[in-house]
Amino acid sequence: MFCKKCGAFLKKGKNCEHTEQKPFLVIKCLECGFERKTSLKPKK
Ligand SMILES: [Zn+2]
Repeated sequence: MFCKKCGAFLKKGKNCEHTEQKPFLVIKCLECGFERKTSLKPKK
């Protein structure tokens, strides 16, 4: 996954943070601080 803002390759635990804010998953780029919201994948 790439940051939309700075284009950095985001690796969990390395340069990005994943935070659950139901029903969203917030992915924060630690390179530029940009936060991106995506919906959590529905579990069956
Ligand atoms: Zn970024």
